[in-house]
Amino acid sequence: MTTQLEVETVNCPICGTADSQVWLEDGKLTRYVRCRSCGTVYASPRASRAARYAWLNATFSLGQNAVENAAGRQPALAAEATFVQRYLKGGRLLDVGCDLGDFFRWFSDTTWERFGAEIVPSAAEYAAREYRAQVFTGTVREANYPTAYFDLVTMIDMLYYIDDPRADFQEVARILKPRGLIMIEVAGQAYQLRRSRGLLCWLLERRWTRLQTDSSYLYWFNPSGLIALLADHGFLVEAIDVIGSPLTRSSWRNTAASLYCVLMTRASRRSLRALTWAPKYCLLARRTAD
Ligand SMILES: [Zn+2]
Repeated sequence: MTTQLEVETVNCPICGTADSQVWLEDGKLTRYVRCRSCGTVYASPRASRAARYAWLNATFSLGQNAVENAAGRQPALAAEATFVQRYLKGGRLLDVGCDLGDFFRWFSDTTWERFGAEIVPSAAEYAAREYRAQVFTGTVREANYPTAYFDLVTMIDMLYYIDDPRADFQEVARILKPRGLIMIEVAGQAYQLRRSRGLLCWLLERRWTRLQTDSSYLYWFNPSGLIALLADHGFLVEAIDVIGSPLTRSSWRNTAASLYCVLMTRASRRSLRALTWAPKYCLLARRTAD
């Protein structure tokens, strides 16, 4: 028996307009479209919030796999923690979408007060227990933190999944102290989309696409769109960092990946637009508005 997927239609998360063209159709009720104005690729129609949460709770299980996958991210998380601590040495940290809490490992509890928000209950419990962090089970908006409470808010590799990025950024602006910092990590749009569809995908994985329009990926942002979204909420980008691909068992792939990372770092120093070709990158922005 098949159940009809409940879907919802949304506008561009950056511009708020519906002016878009179809980018990927794969025979489902959902599809990816590209905003004609800012170039963001996003799912619309997409699975409804209830359908996405039901899917997430049914598929996420806190087993050995989840812990091992999270461990594979440690080098990138360590690099990002080093990056952000060049700008801030301590204070109150909130990691939105903290998953198993692995980012907390790099923030000593003698100088940092560690908070997390995580929608998957088992992950939230694990993060709180493992890292002695105060983890709220739910979204950052549901947590209803006090105004001007945090020194640093991080959103690592999670912006693709949230219901309404504008509403979340507004909330982050409210709960950050004046001059507080936000750090977001996302996948480079051009890199990920080239990697996930077409010849490169076939060469690496022997399949023509690994994208599914009914997946949990709702958005593929580009650097200029994200910078505009930050600016709309009173944030000014202060620094960037290019993050390489996770290490594989193949040494030539690892060498190629680290060379590529160096190249992208240089290119993005000349133009932030180049970040779209980075596997992942971080934008560190400061709250400048009251
Ligand atoms: Zn747009």
